[in-house]
Amino acid sequence: DPDPTLRAEALPEDQDRSLRPQALKEFIGQREARANLAVFIQSARQRGDAMDHTLFHGPPGLGKTTLAQIMARELGVGFRMTSGPVLAKAGDLAAILTNLERNDVLFIDEIHRLNAAVEEVLYPAMEDFELDLVIGEGPAARTVRIELQPFTLVGATTRLGLLTTPLRDRFGIPTRLQFYEIDELHEIVRRNAKLLNIPTDPDGAREIARRSRGTPRIAGRLLRRVVDFAVVEGGGKISRELADASLTRLGVDHLGLDGADRRYLRLIAEAYQGGPVGIETISAALSESRDALEEVIEPFLLQQGLIQRTPRGRMLAQGGWTHLGLPAPGPKGQNDLF
Ligand code: ADP
Repeated sequence: DPDPTLRAEALPEDQDRSLRPQALKEFIGQREARANLAVFIQSARQRGDAMDHTLFHGPPGLGKTTLAQIMARELGVGFRMTSGPVLAKAGDLAAILTNLERNDVLFIDEIHRLNAAVEEVLYPAMEDFELDLVIGEGPAARTVRIELQPFTLVGATTRLGLLTTPLRDRFGIPTRLQFYEIDELHEIVRRNAKLLNIPTDPDGAREIARRSRGTPRIAGRLLRRVVDFAVVEGGGKISRELADASLTRLGVDHLGLDGADRRYLRLIAEAYQGGPVGIETISAALSESRDALEEVIEPFLLQQGLIQRTPRGRMLAQGGWTHLGLPAPGPKGQNDLF
């Protein structure tokens, strides 16, 4: 099975920073979102107001954090970053909010994981730039209202469905990020290879792009691994053959699926004759958390037409059978007729 570090968890900031696009015009792909953001940024700048609260949703590694940082830079304001699970108490968020400067961007990653008490603080902050703090306890408790500087909240989530409605409704600019086209990833890989100073054949870059699961973060990671093979075994240059051989050794197949993806497909094919099978059953059989399946593995398999979600569970689609090199079973009951 492949190197588990190829998976799409967050990389430490400093490893990542060198490759992060710094401006909207350097940001490749997501054309529609980018065009809209450019307008909203310019309008906010001209009015001198904080930009409206923005929610980025979509699978990990598609550029949510990057876009939030670009927004702050292009708005010419400060950038603060935190995440849902880190904000344990209402006071943690209050401390951050009261330290914001006028029109700053506050980025909250994994915003679907905020706890209820912290979320309560966020509502009046987002709506009226006010903080209602409860001081004291029991009958002596009283509420103090604190005025905040206007700010832009940028939330990111891989699970839009887990956001509460009141929170979701407070974002004026909800933006869905899509998986990237191969041409876009090709451009990203070439740009990254140039920044890393690695000579790369166009076909070599394209091979990495084709096998990056539609995801810039994975493209960056695969490029670094292929660079390792190129340096040690390929004379320092990334050709198509070298990229192909390296990625195959890493367990990344021609569609970009890794061992975990293939185990998922094979389970449905072999243990459940193509399904339908419930997500909890799959989770138990693969020892993968349901969240990881729903956030990381399934979105790409669905987008590629390898699986389907039905009310009765997950099913292998025709593309899934083809990818596994297995014949799809005929319609159920067909054999009973004869
Ligand atoms: P997310 O917050 O959605 O998980 P990030 O913004 O952290 O994703 O992006 C993951 C990695 O992919 C970063 O290294 C970033 O530089 C790179 N990346 C994301 N989008 C692009 C893009 N459009 N062009 C180039 N690199 C990108």
